[in-house]
Parts: sequence; C-alpha cells; structure tokens
Amino acid sequence: MNEQRSGAPGRVKEVTSLANPLVKDLKSLALKKFRDQQNAFMAEGLKLVIDALDLGWRVRTMVFAKSALGNPAVEKVAARVLAKGGDILEVSEKILTAITRRDNPQTVVGVFEQKLTKLADIRPAAGDVWVALDRVRDPGNLGTVLRTVDAVGAKGVIMVGETTDPFALETVRATMGSIFAVPVARATTEAFLAWRKSFPGLVAGTHLKGAVDYRTVDYAAKPVLLLMGNEQQGLPDALADACDRLVRIPQAGRADSLNLAVATGVMLFEIRRAALKLDS
Ligand code: SAM
Repeated sequence: MNEQRSGAPGRVKEVTSLANPLVKDLKSLALKKFRDQQNAFMAEGLKLVIDALDLGWRVRTMVFAKSALGNPAVEKVAARVLAKGGDILEVSEKILTAITRRDNPQTVVGVFEQKLTKLADIRPAAGDVWVALDRVRDPGNLGTVLRTVDAVGAKGVIMVGETTDPFALETVRATMGSIFAVPVARATTEAFLAWRKSFPGLVAGTHLKGAVDYRTVDYAAKPVLLLMGNEQQGLPDALADACDRLVRIPQAGRADSLNLAVATGVMLFEIRRAALKLDS
C-alpha cells in the first residue's frame, strides 16, 4: 500500500523510519503517562483486532507488517478499520518490534481508545457476578482475572484503590482479548464503599482468616460481589468489614496463600457452578 488518502475517513500510510513521529507516539504507549495522555492503548494480533471491532471498540490505528501485505484476512480487517475512520500504518518488522518491545512480534497491532465503565452505571441484577480487586498490583494477575471473568460469564471487574493499569501491554496480553469483552471500572476505596452500601446482593470477601469454607455459601439467585485482596497485604479491615461473608479456600501443604488470580478463578467457578453446565 502506498501513502494515500482514501475516500473513507481513515488514512493509509507507509512508515519506514524508526524516527517517524507516528512511531514515536506508538512506542510511547508503553508508558502509562503517554497512554493516558493519548487516551489509548495497544493490543497485539489480528484476532484481537477482529474481536474488538466485533464488540464495538474503535480502532484508532491498525499497524501491520509489510509481510502481511496481500493477506486477505488482514486486508479485510484493514478495510473495516478504514471504514470506521481508523488509520492504517504499514511498517517494517523492525518498527513492529520497537513498538511492541518484542522479538518476533505479531504482524498486526491495534491502537484503541481506552474505555472504562462508571461505577455509578453498574446496576447488578439477580445472577450477576462482579469482581472487586483491592489494589491489584501485578499486570499478569489483572489480565488473568479479566480473562477468567470472561470465561465464567461474570459481568465485570471493579478495581479499587491504586492499581496496576488495565491498559498496560502486559495486562492486555494476559487478557488474551477479554479486555474488550469485560467491563472494567475504577474507584477509590471510599467511592467503592459508598457504592457497596446499595449493592443488592451478597458481598463475599476472600480472606486467609475467613471463618467460612467458600463451598458452603449459597451464591445462587442474587447478584454476587466477590472481593479479592491485594497480593501482598490481603484485604484491609475497611473492606473486610464491608463484606457479608468472609470466605476461605482450604489449603493443604506449606504455601500460605494462593496466587490472587488462581484464588479468583477458584471462587468464580464455585460461584458460577450452577450456571456453568458441561453442555453449555
Ligand atoms: N499475604 C496476603 C494475606 O495475608 O492475605 C496474601 C494475599 S493473597 C496472595 C491475595 C488474595 O487472594 C487474598 O487477599 C485473598 O483475597 C485471596 N486468597 C489467596 N489464597 C486464599 C485462600 N486460601 N482463601 C481465601 N482467599 C485467598
């Protein structure tokens, strides 16, 4: 594709130099400060770009390697992006490596507008499951939780307090595309506690000192808010006190706790057990 202005709102450009300002902008998306300035984030892979488009996300720029030129699937997605006003950048593999900070990068990368759900807009109904993560620090954990929330058909994630960035490349990678399917909200601890007061169902916190075996609780028929603690410190008292039940996952062996994302997965599969029939 040569540099051109198409009739559609989006533009197609070929970029060959690492010094090109467009490449600099894309590289800067590795840092939260610039992601926030540009209100953007990056996701790698053709499938993710297709999934995002299907779910109504706006692709601001689709970057693809020259080696993908002529690939019908890539061309088809590029046409969809252009038609919706997104730009297309055709680049060398060297530029893709620089943008993604990865050897052997994917041949397609999408730049998307960040989108968060407002806490006030979350109105849980019977059967809904929301996960609240207290000060989650690890991008891999956050991404894995989002992927698991998606997999079990829970409704979304509320990040409470100072947390890692859901739009960091590492987080987005760990979600394997679920970043586009799972609503994410962000709230201070105070705002979350105020919102929790009108939560119309069961608020189940997980705690190493929880008095209740997580398998003995009835999670059915009402909305459930599952509250998970910070990786190092667990749930602080202010959040633990706001729970209807504090549950524990029994452990054997020497490990003093489960990894946050693993514990979230164990809980979600129990809470959603009735909904997750083998034949569904
Ligand atoms: N040192 C931390 C503590 O004292 O809580 C360990 C935190 S753990 C790595 C992260 C979170 O996963 C915990 O706050 C809790 O929400 C959940 N978790 C991990 N293992 C658990 C278990 N056996 N029972 C209940 N929750 C657990």
